[in-house]
Order: sequence, then structure tokens, then C-alpha cells
Amino acid sequence: MERTLSIIKPDATARNISGKVNAMIEEAGLKIIAQKLIRLTASQAEEFYQEHKDKAFFTSLVDFMTSAPVVVQVLEGEDAVARYRKIMGATNPAVAEEGTIRRTFALSIDKNTVHGSDSPESAKREIGFFFSKIEICE
Ligand code: ATP
Ligand code: MG
Repeated sequence: MERTLSIIKPDATARNISGKVNAMIEEAGLKIIAQKLIRLTASQAEEFYQEHKDKAFFTSLVDFMTSAPVVVQVLEGEDAVARYRKIMGATNPAVAEEGTIRRTFALSIDKNTVHGSDSPESAKREIGFFFSKIEICE
């Protein structure tokens, strides 16, 4: 069993479709073992996305991620990190596979509905960033 950190992004909460995203996650067999709705501050979003701090899109990414609440969640399942990336689809929804969350719901490369950890190491860091042990259902 593996865990990954998922974020349902502001474009989804603003459109009231976080439940539809959760349905796709659950239908794919991943289990939501922790979940909360939060409004990120700019400094929290900057810290979370520190790997992208030198990219041209960093400021707009932080602005977007703080523009509305997000649902942060821990997903568990076999090979959860890679499996969730597959269910999410490519960063750019225009090239994401049919049936993926981003192909179905994302509006653009930046308003792309979900985040998922990109490796088991990132997952560990990202889960620890948002959740304490007591908030995660064993
Ligand atoms: P995420 O980390 O959100 O799961 P990802 O791993 O598919 O997405 P990254 O390369 O880590 O993509 O980029 C992080 C986020 O930054 C993307 O999800 C997207 O919202 C935004 N982003 C990435 N590339 C661009 C770009 N060229 N223009 C605008 N925004 C971008
Ligand atoms: Mg990423």
C-alpha cells in the first residue's frame, strides 16, 4: 500500500465540482483516508510549490492556488502515486487522455483541477506539509 497527496484546486471548488472529482478518484479504486477544505495563504502556496520558484509561471501559480479554497487529501492504494498521476492525466488538459480528471474537468494548463505528488518521496513531504498523524485514518 502506498499514499499520495492530492489537491482539488481552486478552479474545481469554485465550480462546485469537488464531489465529482472525488467520485472519479473512488471509482478508480483509490481510498480517501484524510481530507480537508482549506484556504491557502500566499506563503503556504509558495512553500508548497518551492520546486517551481524559478519558473515564469510561479507568481500566477501562487495567485491561482490562493484564489479560492482547495481540498487537500491523502489517497491510499497499491502504487498510489503513479496510479493517481495516470487518473489525473497530463498537466495540459488539451493533451490529457480521454477519461482522465484533467481531460474531463480542467480548463487550461494552469487551471487544471488537481495536483498529485510526483514521487513517493514528494508524497511523504507533501502529506506531512498538510496533515498530522491524528488526521489520517489508518
Ligand atoms: P501538479 O504538481 O499540480 O500535480 P504537474 O506535476 O502535472 O502538476 P508541474 O510541472 O509540477 O505539473 O507544475 C505544477 C503546476 O504549475 C501545474 O499543475 C500547473 O497548474 C502549473 N503549470 C505548470 N506548467 C505551467 C505552464 N507552462 N503555464 C502555466 N502553469 C503551469
Ligand atoms: Mg508537480
